[in-house]
Amino acid sequence: MQADGESAREIFGQGEGLTYNDFIVLPGHIDFAAEEVDLSTRFTRRIALKVPVVSSPMDTVTEHKMAISLALMGGIGIIHYNNTAEEQAAQVRKVKRFENGFITDPVVLSPRHRISDIDRINEKEGFSGIPITEDGTLKARLVGIVTNRDIDFEPDRSRLLQEVMVTELQTAPVGISLAEANQRLRETKKGKLPIVDAQGRLVSLVSRTDLKKNRDFPDACKDKRKQLRVGAAVSTREVDRERIAALVEAGVDAIVVDSAQGDSVFQIRAIEHLKKTYPGLDVLAGNVVTTRQCASLIEAGADGVRVGMGPGSICTTQDTMACGRAQATAVFECSRFCRERDVPVCADGGISSTGALAKALACGAATGMMGGLFAGTQEAPGEYFYKDGVRVKKYRGMASFEAMERGGGKRYLYADRGIRVAQGVSGYVVDKGSMLDLVAYIVQSLRQSLQDFGCRSLAQLHQVLESGSLRYERRSSSAQREGAVHSLFTHEEPVLGVRSEVP
Ligand code: GDP
Ligand code: 5GP
Repeated sequence: MQADGESAREIFGQGEGLTYNDFIVLPGHIDFAAEEVDLSTRFTRRIALKVPVVSSPMDTVTEHKMAISLALMGGIGIIHYNNTAEEQAAQVRKVKRFENGFITDPVVLSPRHRISDIDRINEKEGFSGIPITEDGTLKARLVGIVTNRDIDFEPDRSRLLQEVMVTELQTAPVGISLAEANQRLRETKKGKLPIVDAQGRLVSLVSRTDLKKNRDFPDACKDKRKQLRVGAAVSTREVDRERIAALVEAGVDAIVVDSAQGDSVFQIRAIEHLKKTYPGLDVLAGNVVTTRQCASLIEAGADGVRVGMGPGSICTTQDTMACGRAQATAVFECSRFCRERDVPVCADGGISSTGALAKALACGAATGMMGGLFAGTQEAPGEYFYKDGVRVKKYRGMASFEAMERGGGKRYLYADRGIRVAQGVSGYVVDKGSMLDLVAYIVQSLRQSLQDFGCRSLAQLHQVLESGSLRYERRSSSAQREGAVHSLFTHEEPVLGVRSEVP
């Protein structure tokens, strides 16, 4: 029987660049449940992921909170470098130090502080349970604790904490498991459980309010020491060698060499330096869109290749520079070349829906990198505010004028010289709630996509892509209209990640 549609090689081999929107994957045969679909993949040669999801190194997308939640859910976050080397290394350290359920950098005060200091913290941070150490720093000897109950009826807010703090403390030793710590909290009926070392110095804190929130993350992306994994981006510049050293010192798992046109002698030198100085560290190189560019980076030692030039939601590169490539074609061609060399491809930019992510994977990508999709979550940097009655957060391109003013744009070779040409814009995205919900939604949606394709795993998806048995079809512009919502007077757009629970 003649198969419908075309193989990937046929559809992408016709000389015209295709975007995710230009094609559709034809359905396969289903003989398994969506829950059985295995999304395991690799970020780079040596970094395995349970979920093919990566966050962009952008200053409105990835700092430690984003990286922590994404790693907990099975993906990996890449900390941006629009900051000093120390600041970026501190972000990495926060991810590496994170212990699920333990507050590893609790706010502490000294006995000489006053109740008004707690009021100030409560106003700013929203909590008032404060451990008191000898000198008011973490890792100093714990001498007491002050909670709301100790101070709420006290009219004199200038009183010293040493007069009101509770000094008979229920503590737990460092190394205690989260399950045991939670059990202690239940038994003692206290609101806080300080964790101390053998010398009685404060190490971390467990809070009763978090008892219910503390859940298991079986897919978490962790290193051999069971710490969450995290990546960090650097530029190709010589001066960033020091930044790399600081990131390695902080325990970074992968370096992303961030350049808008990745096939340059500068990038090749950066990769060679990284591979020679830190052979144990994986390097994701890019960005590229052609096989020739992939060859340069792989030859220099890249452990993964990041593909995309111009498809980003905030990006104006293709219009400004007249250079780039339609993303689906770029991902297909680069993945085909890289797969033969056992180098995973990260499809970067233009993934604004779960369907686009499924298509990136169906083009051969091992992972998808998202900026705009994750901006606007609680874990993205920046504050929420209201614009025309809608709760939004800022999202901006790293080569927007605004980000370049703040030191961004280092991925663009000319950025140091007098005249800056913007290749991105800044804008706003709507509140998308918590990353934990959003990634769970994306994972469920991907499982259902693969089930529709008739694939039990990402590995199988890439096999049928290669063999030609997965079939694709071009979509005419009217087919694209037909595939979108139409013929309604009005409708409500579903907000990604906000799940309607099935009763
Ligand atoms: P409190 O009793 O006023 O301290 O507040 P709750 O215990 O009701 O809520 C505190 C919330 O803030 C919990 O979800 C904590 O995990 C979180 N939190 C984050 N950082 C800190 C911190 O440094 N100290 C405290 N006490 N809570 C923190
Ligand atoms: P999005 O997921 O929003 O479609 O795209 C995010 C990607 O766009 C980033 O991972 C990065 O590769 C790219 N990017 C970030 N800032 C800029 C910019 O200012 N200009 C261009 N051309 N691309 C950008």
